[in-house]
Amino acid sequence: MKYDDDQRWYQCQRCTNCCKWEGDVVLEEGEVEQIAAFLNIPLYDFVRDFTRLRGNRQGLSLIDKEGTTECIMLDGADCKLQEVKPEQCKGFPNRWNFPNWREACEALPGPRPPEELR
Ligand code: SF4
Ligand code: SF4
Repeated sequence: MKYDDDQRWYQCQRCTNCCKWEGDVVLEEGEVEQIAAFLNIPLYDFVRDFTRLRGNRQGLSLIDKEGTTECIMLDGADCKLQEVKPEQCKGFPNRWNFPNWREACEALPGPRPPEELR
């Protein structure tokens, strides 16, 4: 992973690829509580039904839909957690990405939005 530090900004085209590839949807400290509250689900139930240990066993990830690598929170082209989306999801591809990420992501370069809209 790396962070872009130049002035380019890539606008998400909602292709949903990043919600479907294999890997962890990392939940950072505080996000578990925030998402459970947003979904109006008791914290214990949310952790039990919607999360698993990350591959590195260092914290929690959202689970995938059964038999797929698609995030449990993807609903068509929409994220059910739009208002409280995990930082990992909000940050791709502008704050972090990986080599050749544009082969897997349809985001297009455009003007850099104001800080509050990133
Ligand atoms: S892969 Fe890129 S364009 Fe597609 S939903 Fe994710 S950020 Fe948006
Ligand atoms: S939480 Fe939302 S944005 Fe993140 S991977 Fe799941 S569906 Fe996609």
